[in-house]
Amino acid sequence: MDRRQFCRTTLAASIAASFPALTGCGQGERERAPSAAKADTSIPAVSLDGESIELERAAIRELGEAIRGPVMMSGHPDYDGARRIWNGMHDKHPALIARVSNERDVSEAVSFARDNQLLVSVRGGGHSWPGKSVCDGGLMIDLSALNQVTIDDYDSRAYVGGGALLNNLDTASLEHGLVTTAGVVSHTGVGGYTLGGGFGRLNRKHGLTIDNLLGAEIVTADGKVHHVSKNNEPSLFWAIRGGGGNFGVVTRFEFQLHPFDRNVLSGMIVWPIEQARDVLSFYGEWYDGLSDDLYVGPAMMTMPDGASVVAMEVLYAGDPVAGEKELAPLKGLGKPMMDDVKVQDYMVMQTQEDSTLAHGIRSYAKNGMVKEITGELVDTMLESFVPDPRLAFFTHTAGGAVKRVDETATAFPHRNVETMIMVLAFWEDPEEDHEMMAAGREWFAKLQPFTGGYYDNIEYEGDAVSGNYGPAYERLTRVKGKYDPGNLFRMNSNIEPVTDV
Ligand SMILES: Cc1cc2nc3c(=O)[nH]c(=O)nc-3n(C[C@H](O)[C@H](O)[C@H](O)COP(=O)(O)OP(=O)(O)OC[C@H]3O[C@@H](n4cnc5c(N)ncnc54)[C@H](O)[C@@H]3O)c2cc1C
Repeated sequence: MDRRQFCRTTLAASIAASFPALTGCGQGERERAPSAAKADTSIPAVSLDGESIELERAAIRELGEAIRGPVMMSGHPDYDGARRIWNGMHDKHPALIARVSNERDVSEAVSFARDNQLLVSVRGGGHSWPGKSVCDGGLMIDLSALNQVTIDDYDSRAYVGGGALLNNLDTASLEHGLVTTAGVVSHTGVGGYTLGGGFGRLNRKHGLTIDNLLGAEIVTADGKVHHVSKNNEPSLFWAIRGGGGNFGVVTRFEFQLHPFDRNVLSGMIVWPIEQARDVLSFYGEWYDGLSDDLYVGPAMMTMPDGASVVAMEVLYAGDPVAGEKELAPLKGLGKPMMDDVKVQDYMVMQTQEDSTLAHGIRSYAKNGMVKEITGELVDTMLESFVPDPRLAFFTHTAGGAVKRVDETATAFPHRNVETMIMVLAFWEDPEEDHEMMAAGREWFAKLQPFTGGYYDNIEYEGDAVSGNYGPAYERLTRVKGKYDPGNLFRMNSNIEPVTDV
């Protein structure tokens, strides 16, 4: 079996469905399209509290004229493409979609939502599993046009628009021989990904993406633009490193980059599921003490032909010769059906799941943080495994540099962990929604006793207060109270604002 075949056959390979990202239209059509600047009637909408409200024609027109990018209403030729997000489960219809083109546009959109007490959602890359970036009847602030990445190779910095995708960041950085931690599917948005924490194949070496965040430009609920960093409004800077989209709209991120040879030892080793006990037991003994350069973690899944496998995803971010040496015990294990670990371009791994996990797929996710891979956990991984091609077990390896950051240094508290374990479900038919969500939930319930807390970004449902924010929550409520006392930004793992009386 070769890599292409393996990638094609994993994870609902039959699913080719993909919605057109943003359908184009001709100039004449666009001029006649229903847009806010030409609104000829008031429109029904939904308030922050979920009540039915009416948006006045004059106010809509004012917004349309104030914003440089298009403000779309239902019937606009780009409206349907813009309201679609990655997870096909969410079919929502905002009253207005503002495709902003700079921080001034964002400020206008935020002020409009606040003044009209209108429900507001913020769309970066649109990958929110529970669909928090789109809303019914509210204003969707669409950041997709803010996708510019500028590299300063003298200071090794990347300046990244709030609506850029991980592919934009990786591609621009690598052209300069630089890199920072980025996630494993390249059409994911930098925005939501970073604000939640940011796991990727370089996190053992360089930390989470938030650990590489040096500063940000953010528009808060009062419409003001802030430039935050360690020295400038440090509480807000602390809160956006793990606190999600609760505090405002980030229009620009500034990241620390690191010198990087893009030719890295990387790939997959795959064994038949019959060898899973040997592979996972070995991993449980071996992982402790691995170098920070080595990212390696297990997965278990089933091909459409019914064959189940256990796989190890590998990336060695250092000298490949040293990598081969460190990997030798794993490579010598059992009888793999595929081992394509070799020196190859970093972007091969960074994009390998892009087309299998295309926009429009239906998906459910649940995860938990694990401090130790015990024999009991390995037993449960094996016993709970469900041989269904629509379900898979994955991990995001942590440890290394992730672990060396203090639990309270950022708003992301899950530092003292070795790995994140997840159950993901992918399917195509809406009729299967209930069955697949129940199957994902049931599988994960067996693993949950071995976890402590979870990562909100890879979670369909969750209790934001305790599981995700943990000990950071109380401080987050006070920062929220200062910058968003009216809880305008509530379409996220919501933090209750607490204001000092
Ligand atoms: C296929 C897939 C692969 C993934 N792989 C990884 C991975 O390898 N590592 C990892 O850590 N996570 C991963 N994730 C999870 C990912 O980090 C979250 O889904 C994240 O929310 C995606 O960000 P987004 O901008 O695309 O999402 P969106 O749906 O656009 O936004 C999600 C939320 O983030 C907020 N938001 C987004 N942009 C901004 C902004 N600029 N300013 C303020 N708020 C904003 C909003 O509150 C919004 O509701 C993956 C998700 C998917 C679907």
